[in-house]
Amino acid sequence: MKHKKLFLFDIDGTLAVGDTLYPGSAELLAYIERIGGKAYFITNNSTKSGADYVQKFQDAFHLKTTEDQFVTSGYMTLRFLKEHYMGRKIFVLGTASFVCELRKNGLTVTEDAEDGIQCVVAAYDSELTYEKLIRICKVLLTTDVPFYATNPDLRCPIDFGFIPDCGAICSMITQTTGKEPVYLGKPSKEVVELCLSLSGFSREETLVVGDRLYTDIACGINGGVDTCVLFTGEARPEDLTDTPYQPDYAFDTVKDLVDALL
Ligand SMILES: [Mg+2]
Repeated sequence: MKHKKLFLFDIDGTLAVGDTLYPGSAELLAYIERIGGKAYFITNNSTKSGADYVQKFQDAFHLKTTEDQFVTSGYMTLRFLKEHYMGRKIFVLGTASFVCELRKNGLTVTEDAEDGIQCVVAAYDSELTYEKLIRICKVLLTTDVPFYATNPDLRCPIDFGFIPDCGAICSMITQTTGKEPVYLGKPSKEVVELCLSLSGFSREETLVVGDRLYTDIACGINGGVDTCVLFTGEARPEDLTDTPYQPDYAFDTVKDLVDALL
């Protein structure tokens, strides 16, 4: 693990919870800088942009970061759509700000079940209505176009527990239409590929660190790099006995990980 230079971190449940940074996170980021490594933050939260995250890391955590360090599922989706669907009509189920971001990048987006749609994209949508669900079902059941979604996370942590995330919304749509989306955020290997190409480090020098087996650890495995689970979020030690997503390393907290590295 001491040869690791490129660290791909999940944020929530791994380095922090809400606005509280876990003990050891700042130390770990300082260690990475000291050894000439690079940290990326790979998050399936599609509601915040890279600029929002730089601000949050400064205000809440007192950490200096740059926009390019944040690889969000929203950003992965935007990159994918720009590459494959520029000039083609895309049906989107998502928040007004997500739709606006796609349009600002020159994509042709509709929220209506109309003619000429080339693909369907679902995102985490805190403004979800039954009317929107009817429209996406209509498009999926009356056309045969690819169906994509930002992230498969079933639940999103909140102060009292959890609320439905993109995966849970998609599960409702899949149950109804029989169509399953291809997810563009974690655990897609493209997330790892992008960080490798942006940083120039090798697979052997890379470590994915996260708290969720089916997104974080699966992402590292799909990308062919080593993985480390921390038990400060969703995964529990007993989950490792019955999962296809086996991490290479496991620690209770990020503090334990930094102690091991030092
Ligand atoms: Mg997490």
